[in-house]
Amino acid sequence: MAVITPARPRLEVDYRNLTVAQQDEFDRLMRQADHAGPGDAYHQAMTEAALTVGIPVPASRDIALCSCLNDAGGCGCGAIFDSHTDGVVVTATNAPNRNLSELQCPTCGHDHPRPITD
Ligand SMILES: [Zn+2]
Ligand SMILES: [Zn+2]
Repeated sequence: MAVITPARPRLEVDYRNLTVAQQDEFDRLMRQADHAGPGDAYHQAMTEAALTVGIPVPASRDIALCSCLNDAGGCGCGAIFDSHTDGVVVTATNAPNRNLSELQCPTCGHDHPRPITD
């Protein structure tokens, strides 16, 4: 008989493996977080986004999609991860009146970082 080991909780999920409905909902919630004003709206949208993609809501209540997915020159990685994890690399700061910076996941930040150059 095979030994069943309990699955480790998944702290990351790959955007490319989500259903189209999950992707749409995730995109919508991240836009909502990006445009959220003061108060709890930002963390509310982030919490819902984490639940939508099926990862545990991190203590930071702040998640991000790896910028490698959409960046020119990115590797195409679609990791969704806790924004406050060690090793996250900021590739672009947030635009005026926006909340979200562009981030690389720790794996990409280690393998091919593209930190802000200015
Ligand atoms: Zn990545
Ligand atoms: Zn990458």
